[in-house]
Amino acid sequence: MNLGLKNRVVIVTGAASGIGKAVAQGYAKEKAILALADINLKGLQELKKSLKDVEVYVEKVDVTDAKSCETFVKNVAKKYGRIDILINNAGTAKMGDMATFPEETFRQHAELMMYAPVRLTNLCIPYFKKNGWGSVVNTASIFGKQPGGLISYDTIKAADIMITKDYSSYCAAFNVNVNAVCPGPVDTPLWYADGQLGDQLAGATGMKKKEAIDWFAKTNIPMGRYAKPDEIANAVIFLSSVPAHYITGVALNVDGGMVKSTI
Ligand code: NAD
Repeated sequence: MNLGLKNRVVIVTGAASGIGKAVAQGYAKEKAILALADINLKGLQELKKSLKDVEVYVEKVDVTDAKSCETFVKNVAKKYGRIDILINNAGTAKMGDMATFPEETFRQHAELMMYAPVRLTNLCIPYFKKNGWGSVVNTASIFGKQPGGLISYDTIKAADIMITKDYSSYCAAFNVNVNAVCPGPVDTPLWYADGQLGDQLAGATGMKKKEAIDWFAKTNIPMGRYAKPDEIANAVIFLSSVPAHYITGVALNVDGGMVKSTI
C-alpha cells in the first residue's frame, strides 16, 4: 500500500524517546519531512543524526508552554511552507495513592497531555486549511477507556479521546481527519527508566522491576507481553496516511487484547 506520505511535513511531539521516536523513524522510512519537538534536545539531535537521507528539523519545545509551541509551529511553517500532519504524543504517567495524589502533579499532567494537544491542533489548523488536507493523531491510552488506577493519567487520557472526537467533527469540514491511538503498556522508558512506572510498580508489589513488569503483562494482557514502540508507531502512521483519510474520530486500541469492552 502506498501511504502517500512522501514529502508531507509531519510534526511529532515527544519525539526524543519511546513511541515518539519510533513514530519519527517510521515516517523517515516513508520519506516524510520531519519536524520533531521535545524538551530533550540532546535526544532529538541523536535521533536526527541516526536518520539518513531524510529532511529533519529538531527544536527544543516545552509543549506545556504556549509561547514555545507557537514559536515551533511558526518555525516549521516558515522552513517548509506547510504543515500536513500533527502527532500529539508527548506525555508521562505517575502511580500514586488517589486520596493523596498531588494536585500540582495532576495540573502538570493536564497541561502536558490535555491542553498541549488542543493548543498544537489549534496552531496547525490554519496550515491544514491552506493545504485543503491535514491529519492529527493523538496518543491517548487504553486507560482512557478503562481505569488503570492512575488517577491523573486515566482522567486526562479519557479527555484526549473526547478531544479527538470533538476535533474530528470540527475539522471534517476542511478535510482534516483526527484520530487517537490507545496503546496498552509499551516497552519504553516510561516503564523502564529509573523512577518510572516499572519502579513504581515494583514498589507497589514488592517485586523486582523486571519481575513486576512481566507479572503485569502475563496477568493483564492476553498476548502476554508489552507492545514494542514500532507496533504503536505503525498504527499512528497508518491513521495519518492518505488511504486512511476517511477514518476519523476513532480511538484505536493497540493493546494485545487488554481492553475488554467492545466499544
Ligand atoms: P517516553 O517517556 O519514552 O517519552 C515521552 C517523551 O515526551 C520524552 O522524550 C519526553 O522528554 C517528552 N516530553 C515530556 N514532557 C514534555 C514536554 N513538556 N514538552 C515536550 N516533550 C516532553 O514515553 P512513551 O512511553 O514513549 O510515551 C509517549 C506517549 O504515549 C505518552 O503520551 C504516553 O502517555 C503514551 N502512552 C504510553 C504507554 C506506555 O506504556 N509506554 C501506553 C499508553 C500511552
